[in-house]
Amino acid sequence: MAEKKRVESTIIIGGGPAGYTAALYTARANLEPLVFEGFQWGGQLQNTTDVENYPGYPEGIMGPEMMSQFRAQAERFGTRFVTDDVDRVELGDGDVHRVFLGDEEHRAKTVILAMGAEPRRLGLPGEMELSGCGVSTCGVCDGAFFKGKKVIVIGGGDSAMEDAIFVSKYASELTIVNRREEFRASQIMQERAAEQGNIEFKTPFVAEEFVADEAGKSLDRVRLRNAETGETEEFETEGAFIAIGHIPKSEIVADRIETDEDGYIRVEPGSTRTKLGGVFAVGDVVDRIYRQAVTAAGTGCMGALDAEWYLRDTPPMSEAHWMPGGEPAEVAPTPRS
Ligand code: NAP
Repeated sequence: MAEKKRVESTIIIGGGPAGYTAALYTARANLEPLVFEGFQWGGQLQNTTDVENYPGYPEGIMGPEMMSQFRAQAERFGTRFVTDDVDRVELGDGDVHRVFLGDEEHRAKTVILAMGAEPRRLGLPGEMELSGCGVSTCGVCDGAFFKGKKVIVIGGGDSAMEDAIFVSKYASELTIVNRREEFRASQIMQERAAEQGNIEFKTPFVAEEFVADEAGKSLDRVRLRNAETGETEEFETEGAFIAIGHIPKSEIVADRIETDEDGYIRVEPGSTRTKLGGVFAVGDVVDRIYRQAVTAAGTGCMGALDAEWYLRDTPPMSEAHWMPGGEPAEVAPTPRS
């Protein structure tokens, strides 16, 4: 007798604000979502300390604690979690989609891609050790902790300008360190940064090391090297914001799904629909501009509703024999070649 295999209504890949919000909404719609939340579940907020800009937390909340609450809320309505990284995905188009953990295959009628993005890092000594202790990759998240302090922003693109403008509202002095004389940022963003009374530019300088204070607890200075002369200097600073871009985590679907030149998944404007029927993308793996927990959660909700409406409106596929109401079906597995 042929082995029967369950076809899920919805598989969600990603365990950050977007994935958990998609899980909450699909769970409340009785779709019994299966979430592959990743080995390091919680997304970028797992590496964040105080979150003060998520509405509903007037006193602020620690990033990991907030993600635990997101997760618990989704679990309350029947979400199932797999705390592991997906190895491979075979996306259909209006067909059954397959998600693999090693050789273990999971099938679904819809997939919500919520893998997020990670800040590009410099890979320097002290960078990870002092992360959250003076070194940050998010000006909007952490700028307010540097009130009256001297800080630097490393990078020369629009993100660096935007972070610098935001953080300069709190910092006493801010220096933008760029590895070239020319900036990649748009003229208008450079001008806006230059207009702030407390922002200076330092070029062409490359950071070489983040150095802690004597107690080894927080950032004290950054070793900078002049890219032309090779001379180095110790630049005293209490905060260093690394703003050299982000890397969307779209590699597991890159062969099948349309992305832009930087790997961000393309969706139909105003929706979370990709070009593949039943495949939706939400959160930072789509969004190169806003990248906030609250915007990721918002698109997670959109993805869940798009998936729900897709299941409601799409006729049953031959392989799955699933009911329009979203009942999981039992099907025979596809023979392996
Ligand atoms: P980006 O445009 O790729 O700029 C990255 C910057 O980091 C460049 O200056 C680059 O230097 C520098 N960099 C990269 N690797 C480095 C390294 N290892 N060491 C030192 N510096 C390094 O990235 P982004 O600023 O995040 O912007 C991404 C996209 O989002 C852009 O299209 C941007 O226009 C858009 N964006 C727009 C806004 C806005 O309009 N408000 C805000 C944020 C982002 P090089 O130039 O030498 O390569």
